[in-house]
Amino acid sequence: MANTISINPSTGKEIATYNRINENELHDKILKANETFKTWKLLSFNERAAYMRKLAEVLENNKETYAQLATAEMGKTIVQSRKEIEKCIWICNYYADNTSNLLANEIVETEASKSYVTFQPIGVVLAVMPWNFPFYQVIRFAAPALMAGNIGVLKHASNVQGCAFALEDAFKQAGFPEGTFTNLNISSKLVKNVIENKAIAAVTLTGSDPAGRSVASIAGQNLKKTVMELGGSDAYIVLEDADLDKATDLATFGRLQNNGQTCIAAKRFVVIESIYDAFLEQYKTKMAAAKMGNPLNEDTYFGPMARIDLRDELHEQVTKTINQGGKLILGGNIPDMDGAYYPATILADLKPGMEGFDNELFGPVASVIKAKDEAEAIALANNSQFGLGAGVITNNKTRGEQIALQLEAGSSFVNKLVVSDPRLPFGGVKNSGYGRELAGYGIKEFTNTKSVWID
Ligand code: NAP
Repeated sequence: MANTISINPSTGKEIATYNRINENELHDKILKANETFKTWKLLSFNERAAYMRKLAEVLENNKETYAQLATAEMGKTIVQSRKEIEKCIWICNYYADNTSNLLANEIVETEASKSYVTFQPIGVVLAVMPWNFPFYQVIRFAAPALMAGNIGVLKHASNVQGCAFALEDAFKQAGFPEGTFTNLNISSKLVKNVIENKAIAAVTLTGSDPAGRSVASIAGQNLKKTVMELGGSDAYIVLEDADLDKATDLATFGRLQNNGQTCIAAKRFVVIESIYDAFLEQYKTKMAAAKMGNPLNEDTYFGPMARIDLRDELHEQVTKTINQGGKLILGGNIPDMDGAYYPATILADLKPGMEGFDNELFGPVASVIKAKDEAEAIALANNSQFGLGAGVITNNKTRGEQIALQLEAGSSFVNKLVVSDPRLPFGGVKNSGYGRELAGYGIKEFTNTKSVWID
């Protein structure tokens, strides 16, 4: 039972070691979670909301500590880490304020004296989570799940166990009953045991396609509901009427935010032929000017990737794309410095069949694709195994909306980078997964939608 080690990706130095729990401890924690469900589910929405508001306060009071921890463990800039904690606070308060409306009984007129639909909690939900937004991804699951009356057990990514334990402690500080939210420091091999445990009602996973397939198939064998939030390689179509300055600003921030490691990040840019060269020239200038460096410095635009192995895998994908005929416009080399740094990189003239077109590049590398017209741009955008968050950049909002509706993605934004927002559902189609998080759709995923009839 190897322990988990957190390594600062900016320096390559070890930060802390966390003890993994053994199978007996795991069993006991799940048992406790299941016991807590018996009383937690009986609380009113208002009672649960009081805990959730307290959690928002704890996050606010510890914002700087948590932000520093996230930056130390996975390398995102301190400015973006603070924003991540702020978003967590928003989500906690959103569900504290809105759950009684989102999960209100729905009266249905029938021949009955009374008939309605009610949304009841289902039990202990396992969340398997990634490192890229180590606080946000967990809160995005936990706030609605717990407000609905469920219990959360977390299998967080091995490289961010400091954040995982900090979250467990935040729930404790907020006064949640013991067992309402538990961090399970286990290897991914033990996830199967957890899913098979009778006390586990459902599973949500945010992560890669292979992890999703494995967890969904085990859950399927056990007839347990899953929500899958997987990878993306979504396209942003840049039309010939787009404001180029705005388009290249969005493309720069979109590709470099969170050090290029965001599932919904702008990854492929499909640009209409008539502005292709001008777009590339301006984009190169802006990407080259973005400052890479120590993520603790306030003026750093992007920091290192989360781990050396992920950086090396990305570099292999870049090399493969170039060998397949992709044109390297900027970056593309491993810098001679400590840490998991990779420079802002642009690959151009990409076509279907090339690595950078077909697969997700989870790092600061942009894929630029030329389209002769709008119809070809839509076809190229949709020529993807993924469908998470796609966009259109144009001066014509009506035309943008028409195109947004034709993009095969869970979210399509016009003139704005796709972002998650608790008021709107979030999720994917195709290999980006299924099910939805956030808004009313997300909170209902882990409820028993029950029909009640009184004759
Ligand atoms: P990952 O390797 O799939 O890991 C995600 C989580 O799954 C970790 O907790 C990991 O544990 C666990 N895991 C990995 N393989 C598993 C298996 N076979 N069985 C059970 N659990 C397993 O993904 P990542 O590298 O952390 O995150 C990057 C990926 O997540 C990208 O593809 C990105 O697009 C996607 N993502 C999607 C969303 C979304 O909302 N759709 C959001 C963020 C990220 P260990 O760390 O112990 O291996």
